[in-house]
Amino acid sequence: MAEWHEVAFHMPKLETLTEIELENLFYTRDGIWSRTTKEAQQKFEVKKIDLNEVWASCAPDWECPGCNRSKTELFRVTKSEVLLAQLHSHHDHLMDYFQHALYEKLGKDWQNALPEGVRHLETLGSHLVARFERTRVCIDCNAADGTVKSRNRDIPKYFSFRPSEIRRFVTPTPNKEHSIDFERANDIFCQVREDFERRFVLLKSLVALALAGGMTRERGNLAEVEDPHSVRHLLYSRFARESPVSSVIHDEIRWFNACSISRDGTASRPKKKKVAVAPTEAEVAAYDGGGALDLWNAAPADWRCPACWRDRGEILRRSNNPRRLWSGRLVRHTEYILATPTKDENNNVLFDESVDRHEYHLICLDCSTILTGVKSRLPAVAALEPLFQLRDMAAVATAAPHLPHEVDWDAATERARASRPFVKMVASYQRHLNDAVACRAKYRSFLSRSGGDEERAWARLRFEYADEIKKGGYGDDLIVWLLSEADRIGIDEPYRHKPRDGAVAH
Ligand SMILES: [Zn+2]
Ligand SMILES: [Zn+2]
Repeated sequence: MAEWHEVAFHMPKLETLTEIELENLFYTRDGIWSRTTKEAQQKFEVKKIDLNEVWASCAPDWECPGCNRSKTELFRVTKSEVLLAQLHSHHDHLMDYFQHALYEKLGKDWQNALPEGVRHLETLGSHLVARFERTRVCIDCNAADGTVKSRNRDIPKYFSFRPSEIRRFVTPTPNKEHSIDFERANDIFCQVREDFERRFVLLKSLVALALAGGMTRERGNLAEVEDPHSVRHLLYSRFARESPVSSVIHDEIRWFNACSISRDGTASRPKKKKVAVAPTEAEVAAYDGGGALDLWNAAPADWRCPACWRDRGEILRRSNNPRRLWSGRLVRHTEYILATPTKDENNNVLFDESVDRHEYHLICLDCSTILTGVKSRLPAVAALEPLFQLRDMAAVATAAPHLPHEVDWDAATERARASRPFVKMVASYQRHLNDAVACRAKYRSFLSRSGGDEERAWARLRFEYADEIKKGGYGDDLIVWLLSEADRIGIDEPYRHKPRDGAVAH
């Protein structure tokens, strides 16, 4: 007789903790709640604060490897009276060259256009040539690298200064921007130029190899991600299925991240009023899909955005990018269809409102980015992981051909907040969908392993679901139901796979 572990553990409800308790518990992290931040707000007498994720993700005693300043010395007040608390991830721009070169040669779809078996040259090659590993530095050290390069045109755009080099040409002052010794920066560049150029030569030869399909590597069959049948995965999925705590943990993490950062500095600048310019029919027909050619081609000829009802030509507008004339693209969207609550003859609710099924649509970029806009303005709303459906987009946006939507941001924020119960319904629907599809996959796999013997496949499936069947006293009903649900809602996403050598715009 098998014995079972009973697992129980306690965790605090983060929302109920005081700021001091938060700080004691998460002493390796830093947020708008920390003593360091509060003291800086008092010292500089500012309320508004712009504190980013990278800052929040490391401890208050962190020091910048470029300028050696501590966090208390890194705070700085902007002209618009906002306390800046920002760290950045600094990387060697040489790592970007490979992708840029492939993009230039092969176009947007370079990943698919690349010869078979050479993708590793790009991923490994880009890391191989880097002069330093990606590293966290303060906003001023990161900016100093850019300022030097923009002043000195002799420095190639794919060159970046190492933090140890930045240290040698900046003079740091607490709570102020760096002063930069441009001559010294140039000397340092000259000292390392030869080494940089050697790396660049190597990089170019790797690009040439990749384009020519040389130095190929065959893929192995050890999964890159964790094997879904591993013991750890099985234990974790058992935990996620059986314990309501698993979703609580995710909610707590989201809440914690949102309550740590603040974006007071990112007030949107007033935008100039744009004039609508329409593309010609020929331009619409020749459009490259704006980076999503597969979706552009997948839409039927009479496609209209189901949220704003504009057609393909109408979603295009004059681009700000000098290299492209038009901008606009199609984006995938999942729409969840609700089942109406079931009531008996006395009007008592038998089943609550729930998601019945889902559909896949293509919508325009303007509609799809409304929610993104809300989330980037308000991290606390983003933490709720809100969802927008077509009706939400239609309700908050005023659409016109060849122009960006005019969005009522207050209404959009309200809708995002109010989507919380709906998001929970969708989550429980997704769990059901996954269960159904997993059951079908198991059945198919057992069927193929038993050489098409349905009876053996069923027996294997019954064994697999023995626990659930026993608990609920279902008999075969559970499996029959899951399989029929898989047929009903486990639909293929029509716009999911990019054609490898298919459609090209004419
Ligand atoms: Zn620094
Ligand atoms: Zn639209």
